[in-house]
Amino acid sequence: MLPSPPDRALSSSRTVAILGGGVAGMSCALWLKHLAFWPVLIEPGMTLGGQLLCINRINRWILGIQGLTGPALAALYGRHIVDEAIEVHLGAKLVSIIVEDSGFRLYLREHEHHTASLFARALVIATGLRVNSSEILYSIPGALPLCESGLLTFFPLDHLEAMEALDGKRVAVIGGGDNAHFTVKDLASRTALTHLIIRSQSRAQSLVRQEVEALIRHGRVKEHADALVTSFCQGSNGITIGLTKNNFRTEHIEVDRIFARIGFTPNTECLNGLGPLTGLERNNDGYVQVDARKRASLPFVYAIGDVANPNQSSVVTAMADGAVAAMAIAKDVGV
Ligand SMILES: Cc1cc2nc3c(=O)[nH]c(=O)nc-3n(C[C@H](O)[C@H](O)[C@H](O)COP(=O)(O)OP(=O)(O)OC[C@H]3O[C@@H](n4cnc5c(N)ncnc54)[C@H](O)[C@@H]3O)c2cc1C
Repeated sequence: MLPSPPDRALSSSRTVAILGGGVAGMSCALWLKHLAFWPVLIEPGMTLGGQLLCINRINRWILGIQGLTGPALAALYGRHIVDEAIEVHLGAKLVSIIVEDSGFRLYLREHEHHTASLFARALVIATGLRVNSSEILYSIPGALPLCESGLLTFFPLDHLEAMEALDGKRVAVIGGGDNAHFTVKDLASRTALTHLIIRSQSRAQSLVRQEVEALIRHGRVKEHADALVTSFCQGSNGITIGLTKNNFRTEHIEVDRIFARIGFTPNTECLNGLGPLTGLERNNDGYVQVDARKRASLPFVYAIGDVANPNQSSVVTAMADGAVAAMAIAKDVGV
């Protein structure tokens, strides 16, 4: 059963608003509740879970939890939040925020029309990140029609749905990080040849890199390092990709399908125009800058999970961030 707002009103000096109902936000809410705060989760989607909802692959990286996919984990964590009777606003968006004497007044738009306001002593930003997609490649000639026809796609696991159709085909994977390497590894057993196109050099973890190197040695994968994609052209023989290698040499490769794994963007543009949050310090890529206790550059504002963690995004680090921020809030606000 959801708690009623009057309960929250009684504890307004201990209310903490959390923007984002992914694993970081849910973990923070749980910790805050047991540190005698009143957490309020604000999530624009209609289900808790964030990125987990789209990662239909078994997560092997959580101690003590085996064999669960992202959606199964999201359901497990969401049930925990319900069991703890934590206040959750789904389909809700923060539309404005005012600094008050001892906290923040938040105005929410819920389900597109209804508006609500709440007072929070502290604010936690847990808005996560999203996959970079067509906007990054649009300026390359020929990219747009390929995106529109679905021959060039971006979500890191979308190749899994296309596997059967890729038997014996020529495929290109663009990107040099873990997701590009995992995609190549998945594809190489089925395709005629998989090209791995890396703008500079590989940045993948050593284990998956070694596996891809073995595939390169066996001729299943051809790597193009220091290679910039300059054009795409669709013709009767497939898609021709123009590459400039080492800044001067031009080369063309022909493929049937392209998977781009070109990184992520933190969800921080939503902070622009939100009064005091507009000026929160962010790094050059837009990630919120925090100290070791997850405090952002404004008093009583904290940032956790992927939105503040450009290098170590994972379920357990997001969860840990939630706990660290909750403990910092208890210290800063006072128990
Ligand atoms: C393809 C892929 C595979 C992965 N595989 C693994 C794996 O095997 N193991 C592992 O541990 N990790 C994996 N990860 C990483 C892991 O899923 C993330 O690090 C983790 O889920 C991040 O949680 P989060 O709560 O920080 O962010 P998110 O999950 O991104 O949650 C953020 C939430 O904030 C909401 N939001 C956005 N904007 C606003 C706003 N303006 N106001 C309020 N809310 C907002 C979003 O709707 C979302 O619900 C993978 C990630 C991807 C993309």
